[in-house]
Amino acid sequence: MEQYDVVIIGAGPIGMACGIAAQKAGLSYAIIEKGCLVNSIYHYPVNMTFFSTSERLEIGGVPFISHGDKPTRREALDYYRRVAAVWKLRLRLYERVEEIRPAGRNAPITIKTDKSVYQTLHLILATGFYDLPNWLNVPGEKLSKVRHYFDEAHPYAFQKVAVVGAANSAVDVALETYRKGAEVTMVIREASIQPGVKYWVRPDIENRIKEGSIRAYFNSEITDIREREIDLATPEGPLTLPNDFVLAMTGYQPDFTLFRMAGIHIAEDEQMRPNYDPITHQTNQPGIYLAGVACGGLETNKWFIENSRGHADQIVEHILAGGNVLAPSH
Ligand code: FAD
Repeated sequence: MEQYDVVIIGAGPIGMACGIAAQKAGLSYAIIEKGCLVNSIYHYPVNMTFFSTSERLEIGGVPFISHGDKPTRREALDYYRRVAAVWKLRLRLYERVEEIRPAGRNAPITIKTDKSVYQTLHLILATGFYDLPNWLNVPGEKLSKVRHYFDEAHPYAFQKVAVVGAANSAVDVALETYRKGAEVTMVIREASIQPGVKYWVRPDIENRIKEGSIRAYFNSEITDIREREIDLATPEGPLTLPNDFVLAMTGYQPDFTLFRMAGIHIAEDEQMRPNYDPITHQTNQPGIYLAGVACGGLETNKWFIENSRGHADQIVEHILAGGNVLAPSH
């Protein structure tokens, strides 16, 4: 049994920022992460470029210098490794949190992982939203040719690829696979490419669609996926297309399992927003806090690194104001 003033779940940029804030305040802490450091960013498309400029992704006062004004995934991995080294963050990588027991009468919060058990009076969930894809919920979705995560375009060269979605990820994937020789069809539920698509990418995709290099079916959905074909429902009626791969870039959602175990109330509406105080970030469970993009529930375009880095200081300020700490056992 290990005891810390603060336990943080998730070593994404915001979990790291929480560790730094705790360290600056002289609190003992551990950051528990089920994968590698910044696991979500590691699993982003290999050639991805952030839409934020590098200084807006900085944490812990460590400068982020990138070659272009928008950093690449590789530069972000280098940067966050450097931050972890500079601050000597107390990381527990490759350790998955499996159970959370909220504080009871005279009992602290208990966290069980696949490797250890922790007790704390302050738990911060900074678990992001990249672990669960939004499923299409159509027959054939479990075939291996259907991918919800994209790494790089090469495997799709000379293949018939359907890209589902119309937001940044779908547009990036459609353009990248097209440029590496795939025959690309976009299947888009809405009437147009989404308004939030990066302004410097939008003309490229719109012109490729206009000239017919990338085919797009708007107001359309995939209804069935088979090994060599897909069925679409389009405004002109049903359609069957030959197909080798479906790249479903339909977004992701937070895993609410840990929130529910922790006793955090989740709104029963479309956004499924978890309950927390926007100033202190404390949830309805005393001593349990939410940080980073996980705060948005299903509204995954509300919080980013750039506007959620500050959660760390808000939380630690509240913890210090409470003055509630366990004697560390290490
Ligand atoms: P994450 O980075 O997702 O970290 C959460 C961590 O928790 C993960 O490492 C995960 O493995 C871990 N975890 C989850 N469950 C458990 C468990 N049970 N036990 C232990 N560990 C667990 N934002 C910007 O500001 N600018 C951008 O340009 C930008 N580009 C983006 C591009 C893409 C493709 C995506 C998907 C998102 C982008 N974002 C961007 C959004 C957001 O900023 C990132 O998702 C960012 O990684 C969120 O940081 P976070 O620390 O809140 O969560």
